Amino acid sequence: MKIEVDKGSGFCFGVVEAIRRAEERLEQDTHLFCLGDIVHNNSEVERLKKKGLTTISHEQFFTMSNTTVLLRAHGEPPEIYKYAQENNIKLVDATCPVVLKLQKRILKSYENSAKDNSQLVIYGKKGHAEVNGLVGQTKGAALVVEGIEDLEQLDYTRPIVLYSQTTKGLEGLHLLTGELKNKTSNVPVKIHDTICRQVANRIPGIKKFAARFELVLFVSGKKSSNGKMLFDICSSVNPNTKFISELCEINSDWFLNIDSVGICGATSTPKQLLEEVAGYLAQLELDQNV
Ligand code: SF4
Repeated sequence: MKIEVDKGSGFCFGVVEAIRRAEERLEQDTHLFCLGDIVHNNSEVERLKKKGLTTISHEQFFTMSNTTVLLRAHGEPPEIYKYAQENNIKLVDATCPVVLKLQKRILKSYENSAKDNSQLVIYGKKGHAEVNGLVGQTKGAALVVEGIEDLEQLDYTRPIVLYSQTTKGLEGLHLLTGELKNKTSNVPVKIHDTICRQVANRIPGIKKFAARFELVLFVSGKKSSNGKMLFDICSSVNPNTKFISELCEINSDWFLNIDSVGICGATSTPKQLLEEVAGYLAQLELDQNV
């Protein structure tokens, strides 16, 4: 059986940098809190936990004081910074620079919206950490739309300014904005494509990769929205694509009469985990041939 790991998969630079900042800090301190999972991947969270990184929820954060907390690549809304300042919490801010720039643009648009009565719209996943951080720049005023069905909620008598969550797919954005333009012939609409190319540029590569194999193992944490999007893309070109988060989810029956397996993953999937999956399959094949 031919087994190949996709060279284009693995962490994006935002996640690599957040992990580097956590590990750097843990060299000075034995312990560090992280607001939410540093990456949507259990094995990486567990690896860093052993080094002293403890994930805390937002509820827990708002009970803390006099400590140090790492902010992950997704970014956070302004109230986190305010609470930290008021409660002597030192922040190690690992917000990805791409997300930080987007937050600043949204804040500026929000400030301008008072002048022209425009409404801010974010194409993204409701409740996602990055989206919460973006909506936070507008004091909760921005509307989050997940798809065409949510466009009904917009007020078509006011100008519209739309931004996208960095990890959404370009295809979805184009569908949504096409529909939006059909509905808004009388009001100005500004569309800002703020999808991160670290994700978008992976799509053509992963499509080609997935089409080359009889079976594809897509490895990702279940909470990763980028993982869900890339899995859907792999499945669209290769219906024999299986989603796994851990080695124990692999079913040996999947490989009966299969000659080639491709292994790929999300921007939050460690390359090392993909290599482990490859090693596991090679061992499985050896065991079955004995
Ligand atoms: S996907 Fe892009 S924006 Fe998001 S953390 Fe990675 S590099 Fe940053």
